[in-house]
Amino acid sequence: MFNAVYVEKDDDGYRAGIRSLESSQLPEGNVTIDVAYSTLNYKDALAITGAGPVVRSFPMVPGIDVVGTVESSSSERFKTGDTVLLNGWGVGEMHWGGLAQKARFPDEWLIHLPEQITPLQSMAIGTAGYTAMLCVMALEKQGVTPDKGEILVTGAAGGVGSIAILLLSKLGYQVVASTGRPHEAQYLKDLGCAEIIDRSTLSEPGRPLNRARWSGAIDTVGSHTLANVCASIQYRGVVTACGLAQGMDFPASVAPFILRGVSLIGIDSVQCPREDRIKAWNRLAKDLDFSKLELISSEVIGLEQALRKSQDLLDGKVRGRVIVDVNK
Ligand code: NDP
Repeated sequence: MFNAVYVEKDDDGYRAGIRSLESSQLPEGNVTIDVAYSTLNYKDALAITGAGPVVRSFPMVPGIDVVGTVESSSSERFKTGDTVLLNGWGVGEMHWGGLAQKARFPDEWLIHLPEQITPLQSMAIGTAGYTAMLCVMALEKQGVTPDKGEILVTGAAGGVGSIAILLLSKLGYQVVASTGRPHEAQYLKDLGCAEIIDRSTLSEPGRPLNRARWSGAIDTVGSHTLANVCASIQYRGVVTACGLAQGMDFPASVAPFILRGVSLIGIDSVQCPREDRIKAWNRLAKDLDFSKLELISSEVIGLEQALRKSQDLLDGKVRGRVIVDVNK
């Protein structure tokens, strides 16, 4: 038997609780894992509260991030005792995820944890950090180098934003953080940002073009913010869009793209090919300042607390990342 966060939806409504389950109930897959840690992402909070339709099959065990030890495997890629990591692939949405003491997955969804990263650190990074790395790699691929000018990070005090700042500043970029939480200014500066702007300067409907300020941006917010960010990018600058914290809409004009040659790059962590994930995690092992990771994720909670914490996360009251010790 093992414990899991269990989400149900039926005639009695939508509810999440802790349930004791049997290994025989685990879904299909050729690798079974003793889970060590998972995390609480925005998507997990939506799955637990039912505030957004992310769960596509019920009952569901949420948890889009998993790290643990292989208990049994019929895959050639992994053997018993290996430390493995999973982010995305629809787990916690269509396939039971990591907010449980045991999990089972197809081997192609798993990667080995780079040896420089501990299981706890990997969850401090989680999908948020891996997505931030994909954004940084996309900026680099498009030729945005530190000498080109400032990089804007929106949703800065959130999980993706915080790790994006940490990565960019270590790589030598000048980072400007946009946040709705001015009281987190010291935290954002400790992560390495050079300047902080209030997110209200970006969140209202704006003009098709503004002063060309940033050479690149990592946007986790979407909606008017993303439109205003695109309108303020330098000639041939690059915006990576990965989130929708303000909204899924994109009320923009084509002006930045056709008059300034701005590129808008979409970032998806869920279906991202395995080789790119391995590259991103190896880059995280090399380019993240691990001494500062604790600033982002000092909080380790248990499965029960994950239920209660979800609403706080949706209400924007959680700073950085929340790690879940599934055995706590
Ligand atoms: P968090 O909840 O940790 O952070 C989101 C941040 O966005 C908040 O901390 C807040 O930052 C800002 N924010 C919240 N509400 C608003 C609003 N109404 N208007 C403007 N800003 C707002 O989430 P994550 O960092 O984990 O994820 C960020 C986004 O990226 C989410 O939308 C998530 O779904 C998405 N995501 C996408 C992935 C992909 O593969 N494309 C992978 C991972 C996440 P502040 O307080 O600093 O203003």
